[in-house]
Amino acid sequence: MKDKPRKEIDLILRGGTVLTMDPDMQVLENQVIAIQDGRIIDICAPEEANYRATKVLNTSDCIVMPGLINTHTHLPMTFFRGLADDLPLQKWLNGYIWPLEAKLLNREVISQAALHGACEMIKNGITQIHDMYFDMPAVAKSCSQAGLRALIGEAVLDLRGNSEEVRATLGNKVLELRQRFADDPLLDFNLAPHSIYGCSEKTLKKCAEVAEKHGILLHMHISETQNEVDDCLKEHGVKPVFYLQKVGILALPALYAHGVWTDAEEIALMAKNPASIAICSDSNLKLASGILPLAEYLKQGVNLSFATDGVASNNNLDLLAEMDLTAKLHKAVNSDPAFLPAAETLKIATVGGARALGVSEKRGSLEIGKDADICVLDLNALECQPVYNPYSHVIYSLGSRHVRDVVINGEVVLENQVLTRVDEDGIIEAAQAWKSHILKELDLL
Ligand SMILES: [Zn+2]
Repeated sequence: MKDKPRKEIDLILRGGTVLTMDPDMQVLENQVIAIQDGRIIDICAPEEANYRATKVLNTSDCIVMPGLINTHTHLPMTFFRGLADDLPLQKWLNGYIWPLEAKLLNREVISQAALHGACEMIKNGITQIHDMYFDMPAVAKSCSQAGLRALIGEAVLDLRGNSEEVRATLGNKVLELRQRFADDPLLDFNLAPHSIYGCSEKTLKKCAEVAEKHGILLHMHISETQNEVDDCLKEHGVKPVFYLQKVGILALPALYAHGVWTDAEEIALMAKNPASIAICSDSNLKLASGILPLAEYLKQGVNLSFATDGVASNNNLDLLAEMDLTAKLHKAVNSDPAFLPAAETLKIATVGGARALGVSEKRGSLEIGKDADICVLDLNALECQPVYNPYSHVIYSLGSRHVRDVVINGEVVLENQVLTRVDEDGIIEAAQAWKSHILKELDLL
């Protein structure tokens, strides 16, 4: 009897331990993941895999899991890493970051810093980011060049002046860029009103109006510091989440970064609305902003995700480290070692991230029909053996140095720890060159 002809496909991942993160949290051993046209078309035992692939990755001795989703980033801040540390948020923003951005930012620096950041994300096992910054087309092109999936929002900030002008055209760029980059499956665009303190009431209302009209996800900082809550009470007479309700934002799908100083009443209100939180523990600890009430968010059922925030306040783009830190921090805060178990923590970084960005149907788990966004962690090292529980390994034992391969939209963009689309040495050289330029500008401040 003649064998059935093998189906020609793009990519196969063969072997290892697959953490599907599907609704049943299936963990599969020694499977084949078949990928065609950017999607997972099959997950099956090797003897059932009737495929001939252009490329095959041997993932035995590896953990294969969905790519991590980083739901709050400022990608082009990469060149500000370590520039102004050990300062409180407002001093850090007003004394360094914002004046420096006002002097320095142009398309060239944004493009190069964003490319650097995009490559760093990939090397950390991150397959999608949700960015908030300026010059969306430059950030988009850099992400696309590295092969990173990105939902890119242009920061809306009244304190940069021209607020009337900005308000009149809010959302136009998002719609234009969605059209311009419609052929690029890696890119999408949205609106990012910076914060309650960075935007006027008029601007926030206009953002809500535009987002509702065009079905655009909103991206915003909220209740990062106690100061922000005090100012909101003083200026608007209500707590921040109630203020979001007042300006019409809360009823719309939105991702809120930080949410450190929200109280139980605000969290209950969030839970009744399509709101997600980006947990940014590292940034919150470094800026001494505080520790978010994670147990209360979980209790009330608010969707949670993980984020690094910008590299200038972290100072890395490492979500594996973020998960480890957050899980341990909140075990201690809650005096409960059983709080936030490893599998739940990883679920927040994958399933929760996809839900936060409104892409649950396409991403967040390894299932047939979903986008092939995959992270492969190498277990071939002293510190990785033995393995009793792969979730425990991902959260507590492994780090970004164990990220071996990354697949985004069906393409291997990191193979054996080497970026396949970009020359990493060139990126390192560019960062070093920009440092001297930035230091000169800093002297002139
Ligand atoms: Zn931020």
